[in-house]
Amino acid sequence: MVLVTAALLMVTTVQSKNFASMIDARVELEAANKENEKLANRDSLTGLANRRQFFSHLNQEFVLAERSKSKLTVGIIDLDGFKPINDLYGHAMGDNLLTQVGARLSELANEHLSISRLGGDEFALVIKNDLTNEQLLAFGREVCEILNTPFALPDASVQISGSIGFAVYPDLASSAHELYERADYALYQSKKTNRGDAVVFCKSHIRDIETDSKIELILSDANLEQEIAVFFQPIVDLKTSRTVAFEALARWDGPILGKVSPAVFIPIAEKTGLITRLTEILLNKALLAASRWPDDIRLSFNLSAKDISSPIAAMKIFKIIKNSQIDPKRIDLEITETATMFDFEQAQSSIQLLKSLGCGIALDDFGTGFSSLSQLHALPLTKIKIDRSFVTQIDQKPASYKIVKSLLALSRDMHLQCVIEGVETKDELKVIDSCGGQFVQGYFFSEPLPETEIAHFIKETVTPHRFAQ
Ligand code: C2E
Ligand code: MG
Ligand code: MG
Repeated sequence: MVLVTAALLMVTTVQSKNFASMIDARVELEAANKENEKLANRDSLTGLANRRQFFSHLNQEFVLAERSKSKLTVGIIDLDGFKPINDLYGHAMGDNLLTQVGARLSELANEHLSISRLGGDEFALVIKNDLTNEQLLAFGREVCEILNTPFALPDASVQISGSIGFAVYPDLASSAHELYERADYALYQSKKTNRGDAVVFCKSHIRDIETDSKIELILSDANLEQEIAVFFQPIVDLKTSRTVAFEALARWDGPILGKVSPAVFIPIAEKTGLITRLTEILLNKALLAASRWPDDIRLSFNLSAKDISSPIAAMKIFKIIKNSQIDPKRIDLEITETATMFDFEQAQSSIQLLKSLGCGIALDDFGTGFSSLSQLHALPLTKIKIDRSFVTQIDQKPASYKIVKSLLALSRDMHLQCVIEGVETKDELKVIDSCGGQFVQGYFFSEPLPETEIAHFIKETVTPHRFAQ
């Protein structure tokens, strides 16, 4: 009996030990699973829900909203001016900034509002509250203000802003995917026209999407060589009253749509990749026209973001200029700040390549983006063009006057030439002249002209001080 009992006891003890270790293993496994799940669903930098979790949460909430017939809103936030900070201060600083953005945004979270980081500098909100479009816009502006407040980094205090696009179910989206796509479209609109502000997807956006896809179709089928022309707008030197350059501006006049503004078709061509071919055609036409002008007149040519964000496209432009009949030293290539934001290093090396030919590099629409002095230093610029928005009614707007005056001082300090765009009236011109502006462009002098009118215009403007009086 004793022996049997002892044996049984031993068996029981061994088994219970095995059992205990099995339970331990199971607990460990569960913890590991939880950790894995957390890693799979959390963004490791900010601790917010990641892209995967955002979509699974959105899908769940969408099913619930459909069932309960309640509203569901998706908001997508993209930071403006983050990429240059990442490029210039380094990735550690960029990460620090994103962590702080994540922390500020997560303070907004509650049972009705969840925040995720979709990747890069993009964040997303899922909102279950029943808000009107006005309330949504007001909330969006609050978020923008939160992002606008300067961030303290170890070496600097930096300021960025955020743009937001919203889309609401069931008002203007019928599936979770559409809700996301339309919020993204609204974000794109906000970045294009209301940078640093909120936009709610609305009915007119649906019409715009339809028009854009119609234009996209027609443009991709068009005989570009024949339908696309280049017009030229003079840039005048106020000191001598002479035309010193012409800016080449694309014009499309086709059989189906008639005249379409470049502000409409250039972005579409950029989106579809057609811009590379368009740039080639435009550049060839512009160079041919400029080769017939007097030697002291320069050509200013607009490059799109795609032209400088791909080494192949940049090389193509390089070859066209090199093989042309005109001295590259007479050419200025205009780029915008946004063009450099996609891939700063690639943009920098494309610009460097084109500059090595002897071309000037002008920063177009300056003042509308978020470039700071240090960011400008990183690009081999020779000119800046002050955006029209600061010039319109400068004679009545002290804020615009101050901005233009300080941009002119900035360009002088940096030994950059400065062209002031969009001068329409004599009063605006007088103010610009009094601030020391020298190179000007705008309807006051001339609208963009067809090539045939250029010779006449050059002759006409050689009257000293005609404009300054
Ligand atoms: P941008 O390069 O800033 O060109 C200046 C725009 O302002 C032109 O519009 C010009 O006609 C307009 N403008 C000039 N003076 C005045 C003025 O006094 N008042 C007003 N209200 N407007 C004035 P446009 O030709 O419609 O071109 C719009 C934009 O489309 C250009 O802005 C540029 O970003 C783009 N674009 C035009 N041609 C080309 C091109 O060949 N290639 C590329 N990549 N983009 C182009
Ligand atoms: Mg331009
Ligand atoms: Mg411009």
